[in-house]
Amino acid sequence: MKSGFASIVGRPNVGKSTLLNRLVGQKVAIVSNKPQTTRNRIIGVVHHPEGQVVFVDTPGIHKPLHPMNERMVRVAQDALANIDLVLLMADATQPFGRGDAFVLELLQRARSSAFLLLNKIDRVAKPKLLPMLEHYQKLYPFEEFFPLSALSGDNVEALMNAVLARMPEGQPLFDPDQVTDQPERHLAAELVREQLLHRTHEELPYALGVIVEQWAESERGIRIDATILVEREGQKGIVIGAGGSLLRDAGTAARLELEQLLGCKVVLKLWVKVKEHWRRDGWLLDQMRI
Ligand code: GDP
Ligand code: MG
Repeated sequence: MKSGFASIVGRPNVGKSTLLNRLVGQKVAIVSNKPQTTRNRIIGVVHHPEGQVVFVDTPGIHKPLHPMNERMVRVAQDALANIDLVLLMADATQPFGRGDAFVLELLQRARSSAFLLLNKIDRVAKPKLLPMLEHYQKLYPFEEFFPLSALSGDNVEALMNAVLARMPEGQPLFDPDQVTDQPERHLAAELVREQLLHRTHEELPYALGVIVEQWAESERGIRIDATILVEREGQKGIVIGAGGSLLRDAGTAARLELEQLLGCKVVLKLWVKVKEHWRRDGWLLDQMRI
């Protein structure tokens, strides 16, 4: 049997979490079109007849300007070393930029075995891919190259087989029914945050934090109480929306997903609280597993 770890690293918004969900076959990481959606290390386990691969999704690597982001980037940096394989992901729709160069520098320092993944090929003409692949080839001794689409699934199975082939021999590390190490409470908070991300813009997504405060199970289902943290009074108004509409819609969407995930009826109560510098609060960041 094969068994090992592969981490997915790259700039924010290139599609790392989308790929993780596609590989695992269910949603373990939230996704949005806003950068820095993923704030912690998320594990997704793929059980295959020939072995087990533990994929590690990471926050995007960027220059951190905030204590919370420092933690996020450290998590991503750690995922570059002491790992069986690094999957370095780039966005094929974007020109190679300073952000990509920074990610490569970190990989050069870690000297890990790595594949290059060029994602979002559903959005670019094929001839454009070759020069990009050649550019990466000059910068690091990648073992394999995969143009792919995490969204459509194009070339993802080939990637999966190649990753498995590179894993060391070993016993499985996770039970066959386990796909992630995230507690359900945390996933619930993340699903709420995802729905809020879909409905907010500009600086607000960065200022949002969600914590599950209560989780009560009964024969009728699960009641979840969650607090949404924002940093300013004005943001609270935006999150609540006109007549409470934004919060209500986000809550309904998150509840429907939770009911599907947990397989029972869910009552989801959301509260919005202003806490000016919550992103500097180590205790709160710990609560959110950041
Ligand atoms: P991450 O920050 O690297 O984890 O990126 P996400 O997985 O959150 O995705 C960022 C955005 O890119 C989302 O809007 C995704 O729907 C989109 N995306 C991810 N993969 C693809 C892809 O293969 N093709 C296209 N067109 N969009 C993608
Ligand atoms: Mg992500």
